[in-house]
Amino acid sequence: MTERIEGTWSAPGRVNLIGEHTDYNDGFVFPFAIEYRTTVRLASRDDARIRVSSSFSADAVEVPLAELAGLFPDRRDEVVEWARYPLGVAWALLEATGTDAASVTGVDLAFSSDVPVGAGLSSSAAIESATASALNDVWQLGLDRVALARAGRRAENEAVGAPTGIMDQMASMLGQPDAGTFLDCRSLLAEVVDLGFARAGLELVVIDTKVTHAHSTGGYGERRAACERGAEIMGVTALRDVSVADLPRAQELMDDVTFRRVRHVVTEDQRVLDTVQTLREDGPRAIGGLLDASHTSMRDDFEISVPELDLAVETARAAGAIGARMTGGGFGGAAIALVDRERVPAVTAAVESAFAAAGFTAPHIFTVRPSEGARRDA
Ligand code: ADP
Ligand code: MG
Repeated sequence: MTERIEGTWSAPGRVNLIGEHTDYNDGFVFPFAIEYRTTVRLASRDDARIRVSSSFSADAVEVPLAELAGLFPDRRDEVVEWARYPLGVAWALLEATGTDAASVTGVDLAFSSDVPVGAGLSSSAAIESATASALNDVWQLGLDRVALARAGRRAENEAVGAPTGIMDQMASMLGQPDAGTFLDCRSLLAEVVDLGFARAGLELVVIDTKVTHAHSTGGYGERRAACERGAEIMGVTALRDVSVADLPRAQELMDDVTFRRVRHVVTEDQRVLDTVQTLREDGPRAIGGLLDASHTSMRDDFEISVPELDLAVETARAAGAIGARMTGGGFGGAAIALVDRERVPAVTAAVESAFAAAGFTAPHIFTVRPSEGARRDA
């Protein structure tokens, strides 16, 4: 009988500080890992099977490791949805390394998590990154963190069927305390950049509006199509290749709506670069205007905000936030605000009463801290 392996690994969710709808345009994003984590307890087993269970779901799933290759992607519908995330990661890791399923040990994976699901904090990247880290160690695959992020993304795209970029997995894999992950979505080169929120006495407040809009999928598709159209008109591979100086020419060449979509992406890429530079030169108190400008661009040019997000952002600023913006894909979800620690109660109270006065559903307001990425805990 082989030696029994047991251990615990965990990986965090994330928020995106700045860089929205830039990922699929080959551009820049700047998310950070948060303190909310998904933990997986792993125990090896003597048979060549993988079993996944979660406090999130009553449905545990057990399959022979050799069957993963037949399940994904074509027969993924036979697997209960949540289990496609961890089983998809196992499949993607074996594929990426050309590892024969018969050569690795069977495993039991038991998940628990305090990452809010579906609140835009990427509980999906957290479960993927925790799984990838655990299996990489136990199966001795020798993959680096970027390769593990890629396996997580492949699982999400092909085993789950969600057409997302790699930002979330990179943030979850590469996070460092009080730092963000500046990511070039074209080269996948990532740099850990000091945020200095803690030193400056700042908190990042998340205002979850609880709004989920029915047209978010259609809206996302329409925005992607507009970006592709814009790139084609400009004769470039992706909007990443258009600079702010090119915008007057873009305006001459395209209709107003396409131009405004393009202008959002082009200026947002620049704002990500400016945020990184400003943090390095002047510290976090100086980035408020960039956060504000990002919101305005998403509201007016990309047109993906909703009244609840606008109210959250405006109220937070009026109550003393250094900067605020909606975060995530839009049409609902959360806003973030950078706030002096002692002003957090005042900002929270102001947003709560503004929502009540407007007759909106009460928001969920909490703080997140830039935190460490995936790791082995025990
Ligand atoms: P999010 O914004 O939180 O990433 P997604 O829809 O991308 O939202 O991913 C949420 C899905 O990920 C859940 O519906 C579930 O299928 C899966 N998931 C996330 N965390 C867990 C967990 N701890 N246990 C089981 N499934 C999970
Ligand atoms: Mg997700």
